[in-house]
Amino acid sequence: MTESLEDRALIKKMENHGTLYLVGTPIGNLDDMVPRAIEVLQSVDCIAAEDTRRAGQLLQHFSINTPTLAYHDHNELQAAAMLVQKLLAGQSVALVSDAGMPLISDPGYSLVHLAREHQLEVIAVPGPCAGILALCASGLPTDRFSFVGFPPAKTTARKRWYEELADRGETLVAYESPHRLIASLVDAVEALGGNRQVAIARELTKKFESWYVGSLSEVIPRLGSELHAQKGEFVLVFKGSPPKDKEQAEVNRLMKLLIPELGLKRSASLVAQILEVKKNLCYQVGLQIKEEGGQGCAPE
Ligand code: SAM
Repeated sequence: MTESLEDRALIKKMENHGTLYLVGTPIGNLDDMVPRAIEVLQSVDCIAAEDTRRAGQLLQHFSINTPTLAYHDHNELQAAAMLVQKLLAGQSVALVSDAGMPLISDPGYSLVHLAREHQLEVIAVPGPCAGILALCASGLPTDRFSFVGFPPAKTTARKRWYEELADRGETLVAYESPHRLIASLVDAVEALGGNRQVAIARELTKKFESWYVGSLSEVIPRLGSELHAQKGEFVLVFKGSPPKDKEQAEVNRLMKLLIPELGLKRSASLVAQILEVKKNLCYQVGLQIKEEGGQGCAPE
């Protein structure tokens, strides 16, 4: 038999602790508000919101009169402590962000962590999450993916960020702000190569939802030429890096074996002859092995 919200609230009241609900809200289309989200927001003692004015508009639309209080990046620690006191005192609390699932590039982690530390009940009430919607509709592999949040705003840090992700094999899901979109994609080309497949979702669930799918070099000019294309909200989904081919793996294996005996140069020339590959490729692989701390490597 399933417990109703009232049963659950009653049990928790008997234990004298409230429940923390993480409530997903629409990311653009109000029809995506699920009935359970409305029910929870109506029944809790208070709603912690990233922006109480924005939450107020949503609550008004669904005729929800529950009191709200602010929970955002600038008061997160104090607000989390205060909300946990409320939960310990038996009140139930719902957390909402401006849109989508709380905690996904949005505040909430400190509160959930603290609530778990106090063994309080935490329940997620599902709603849309832009990254997951974009991933599912991207046409890129969904069996393994990483959500990597927003790229850094400054160019140097952003280039490094993309370089660190360049060899990852799984699909990568990122958020990006409209005014950095093109600069960010240009940096992505430098690190991932123009051939890397990407799916860019704009304005998901909204009237002007649009998609830009193809290689980075194909997609950037399209975005650049369409005026409206750099406005709105965006999710970037990058295909992972192809697995290092067998040849490279073999070069790697032999170079690791030979460098400690023969040194870098002689190993590179020998491995190049054995595998009939370019000597420079073997040399570069050897350099990397040494940089990564190839212990026992003979001095050159
Ligand atoms: N917590 C939210 C979620 O579950 O998706 C994400 C919040 S994050 C601060 C906001 C970013 O999510 C936007 O800058 C954009 O990259 C992405 N986003 C949110 N709504 C979107 C939409 N309707 N279409 C495309 N991207 C969206």
